Amino acid sequence: MAATVLDGNKIAGEIRTEVAVEVQTMAAAGIRPGLAVVLAGNNAASEIYVRGKVRSCEDLGIYSEKHTPPESVSTESLLKLVADLNQKDEIDGILVQLPLPSQVDSKRVLMAVDPRKDVDGFHPVNVGLLSTQRPGLVPCTPAGVMEILKRSNIAIAGQEAVVVGRSDIVGKPTAMLLINGNATVTVCHSKTRDLPGVCRRADILVAAIGRAGMITRDFVKPGAAVIDVGTNKVTDRAEFERLYAGNAKREESFRTKGSTLAGDVHPEVAQVAGALTPVPGGVGPLTIAMLMANTVRAAKLRRGASGGIVAA
Ligand code: NAP
Repeated sequence: MAATVLDGNKIAGEIRTEVAVEVQTMAAAGIRPGLAVVLAGNNAASEIYVRGKVRSCEDLGIYSEKHTPPESVSTESLLKLVADLNQKDEIDGILVQLPLPSQVDSKRVLMAVDPRKDVDGFHPVNVGLLSTQRPGLVPCTPAGVMEILKRSNIAIAGQEAVVVGRSDIVGKPTAMLLINGNATVTVCHSKTRDLPGVCRRADILVAAIGRAGMITRDFVKPGAAVIDVGTNKVTDRAEFERLYAGNAKREESFRTKGSTLAGDVHPEVAQVAGALTPVPGGVGPLTIAMLMANTVRAAKLRRGASGGIVAA
């Protein structure tokens, strides 16, 4: 039987509606959550992401401002900008869009963001709060993975979860959230022995690798929930055929655009898994929705209120 498709657009829509209601409630109390986005230089993909984030703020009634220092910006001047935003009362969240221009010391800039305004959840203070289960700000994509599982009624407590990928922004925080949710978690990476065998233990398998279609059916236990975080641009015809031979819709878009967006999970996994997120339309839409939720959460936490949609 084919896997249930976990519709990220639908779940993101639910979260956005909930965030909009929270924003309205806060407005009645005279508070308007605010997000500052820093987009340095001229990265075309970053410009598209930032446009989506700003539009999303507008849709939900969140105040937003965009700062666009030039490609030649120095670390010092970005540090000054972040320091100013840390002080600004109308700003609850600061998002520094990565990658920063190559001359900039990205770690120093990210470390300079006030942890209370760190809506990306990358600051070591927030990493520590997450690992000790205290209220803080959780990275958006991992938080989105958890929302997909919870809102799809996929059991987490007591389940075997395997996360492939150990990056600071996806793999590790996802593993931590699953541990906090009482799953038994294994984290895999490029040095893991017998990766297919380890993955086959998983009731919940999260792929955050960055390799198109690497997770094939022999990695998946029948009936497992598979969450595909990967976003890979496939431009090679042979690679396309390996993944999407016979898929007329993909073929059409590949022919017109010269590329297609693939996850880390091979489409054949749909024949084995119990549930599966598609790419596109799975985890991706959750990332912006969780950024909005985090901005509202930051506004509340900074004012001493608890909670919001994202549970640490
Ligand atoms: P990353 O920093 O490159 O980390 C990739 C991880 O995968 C590393 O831990 C690496 O292991 C592991 N890995 C690489 N090749 C492997 C192999 N052959 N076998 C086992 N493990 C392997 O990537 P990331 O930032 O976490 O992103 C992962 C994917 O998620 C990318 O496709 C990215 O575009 C996507 N992403 C999507 C969203 C979204 O909103 N949907 C958001 C963020 C990221 P080592 O540590 O040993 O090198």
